[in-house]
Amino acid sequence: MKLIKDYSQIVGKEIIDELYLVADKLKGKKIQNINSTLSGGGVAEILSRMIPLMKDLGLDVGWDVLDADNKFFEITKKIHNALHGLGVDINEEEYDYFLQVNKANKDKILDQSDIVYIHDPQPIALIDQDRDQGKKWLWRCHVDFSKPKENVWEFLKAFIKKYQAAVFSAPAFARFLDCRQILISPSIDPLSDKNRNLEKREIDFVLEKYGIDPDKPIITQISRFDHLKDPLGVIESYRLVKKYIDCQLILAGGGASDDPQTAEVLKEAENLASADKDIFVLHLPSQSNLEINALQRASTVILQKSLKEGFGLTVCEALWKQKPVIASAVGGIPLQIAHKYSGILTYTTEGTAYWIKQLIQEPEYAKRLGDHGKKHVANNFLITRQIQDYLLLFLSLYNKSDIVDLG
Ligand code: UDP
Repeated sequence: MKLIKDYSQIVGKEIIDELYLVADKLKGKKIQNINSTLSGGGVAEILSRMIPLMKDLGLDVGWDVLDADNKFFEITKKIHNALHGLGVDINEEEYDYFLQVNKANKDKILDQSDIVYIHDPQPIALIDQDRDQGKKWLWRCHVDFSKPKENVWEFLKAFIKKYQAAVFSAPAFARFLDCRQILISPSIDPLSDKNRNLEKREIDFVLEKYGIDPDKPIITQISRFDHLKDPLGVIESYRLVKKYIDCQLILAGGGASDDPQTAEVLKEAENLASADKDIFVLHLPSQSNLEINALQRASTVILQKSLKEGFGLTVCEALWKQKPVIASAVGGIPLQIAHKYSGILTYTTEGTAYWIKQLIQEPEYAKRLGDHGKKHVANNFLITRQIQDYLLLFLSLYNKSDIVDLG
């Protein structure tokens, strides 16, 4: 396990000293994070890296997961999709069940903390200001909130306004709300198994394990198998390129315990890919961090062809490895990629194919994109920056005038 001081080799000692200074002001405050899954997806990824480092800074911080069944997660996946603008029907009985599960969890998981930090919509209805006066409540939204379906948005808004502040990943998600809105971008951990430097032999080992040819261009997308990550669109783009260039495609990822649609989307991808031995659809177990790292590092080009995206940590992960990334211009992705400078932003399957071809054929240009991308991540999206933002946010709850009001 890494210690916070280990990060001074990357971000400098001053940043680490500042973190200690701010953390010291939060001594005696207990902070509880709550989300809906321990693994799979960006929220769990960030919490699993951040909580131990915050503890190492001397903070009393914990992480609990909602206790819920598949029926609940079917409903919350619908809510998730509706927030991403998809037309879904959620009936009264489903809303009631959502509320029931949240209510039952109040006694099960809410502890004696000073600050409750709720992540995403699944546990949003845990908020209960009457229950424990003086407790501070924060709601962290990790989803693409640019065009939510109105009825679901209204349902959630009634809860959001009870929180002291709502935290979003990108300016595009700011909305009219009765509570304060804060912008804090996600981040990656440069020392985790997913992002640390690897030896060539570690990368070769993974390629060999899956029978991937290191001498043929590799196009990769790492993502949960979710329609919103557009795995079928990725295969279509690859096929357009394959007519001209002999290349390989890796679609690798798993699911999350709060996402019931994984199996169905994986099957669709496997069916579409089955006739082509150069497509590798890899269903990875959780904690495949070294493998993901190796696959990203072995790639010629990395895609993130999402239809909607809260932030897209995978983009940061690839840029940190100096890889040329082609990603959709949605949600938080344009915060990470300046088009033609630190990566490529696209809007269509054909556009994605065009740029894959270009980048495979112009390795010098592709390298420049990756170099710029790494600098951008180093300056903006490393975990120490996000810890600092969170600590300052917690402090500001006790000093109202420090909160920037965007509402
Ligand atoms: N990830 C993983 N295993 C998988 C698929 C994804 O560990 O099978 C990780 C990925 O490396 C990244 C995170 O999960 O760290 C995904 O975050 P992102 O913001 O890209 O998307 P989300 O899944 O949260 O929508």
